[in-house]
Amino acid sequence: MKIVMLGAPGAGKGTQALNIAKEYDIPHISTGDIFRANIKNGTELGIKAKEYMDQGALVPDEITIGMLLNRISESDCENGYVLDGFPRTIPQAESLRAALSENGDKLDYAIDIEVPDEEITKRMSGRRSCPKCGGTYHIEFNKTKVEGICDVCGTELIQRADDKPETVLSRLETYHKQTQPLIDFYKEEGILETVDGTVSPKEVFKAVTEVLG
Ligand code: ADP
Ligand code: AMP
Repeated sequence: MKIVMLGAPGAGKGTQALNIAKEYDIPHISTGDIFRANIKNGTELGIKAKEYMDQGALVPDEITIGMLLNRISESDCENGYVLDGFPRTIPQAESLRAALSENGDKLDYAIDIEVPDEEITKRMSGRRSCPKCGGTYHIEFNKTKVEGICDVCGTELIQRADDKPETVLSRLETYHKQTQPLIDFYKEEGILETVDGTVSPKEVFKAVTEVLG
């Protein structure tokens, strides 16, 4: 199964992508996580990506598309994957479609998680992330068993540098301008599914599994 998660930053894409990956035994691929790992390791890619991420802007397509297409050509992707944070622009979506169709393949679902902007800012300020396994928590809405420690791998959680209120606002603006048009793109492809993202993470996942079957 090949799935794309759509939605504003903070809508719950990562939270639900992890659930889907576990339930359907497919890899969870987050371009944001790949960039953050590169930043942490001080790679050339990380240094370039950081400039954009710190501004709440998108990393250029020339960097992002090649990186993602390489990742999905790895052997663990043969039975599908759930993409979280890619595509974020129409050229990214077109490149993915073209790469898949070269092998007579296509995406199965694009799941849009809908959450209004007012709710997003609350979510981002309380988000805590695991730098090791990509786990995502919230200090109020999705607490860890032990405060500040990842439930899955025991690593100390961090607050992402781009979750400060100023950056969140520019990320939302970037989303509306560059990423939201993908909703119509996938509607036209006939694979768009919309779920209400304002209910609890468990209820959102229930709606997602109803879509995926
Ligand atoms: P995205 O990957 O879309 O940026 P995340 O999955 O990281 O979003 O979720 C953003 C924040 O909101 C996290 O702190 C997460 O724990 C919290 N969250 C996710 N889903 C819900 C939900 N349904 N209700 C309340 N908070 C949520
Ligand atoms: P995320 O972890 O998905 O919230 O992404 C964090 C940041 O990484 C974004 O604000 C962008 O700067 C960058 N990023 C992640 N995925 C992409 C993408 N597909 N295209 C461009 N930039 C991206």
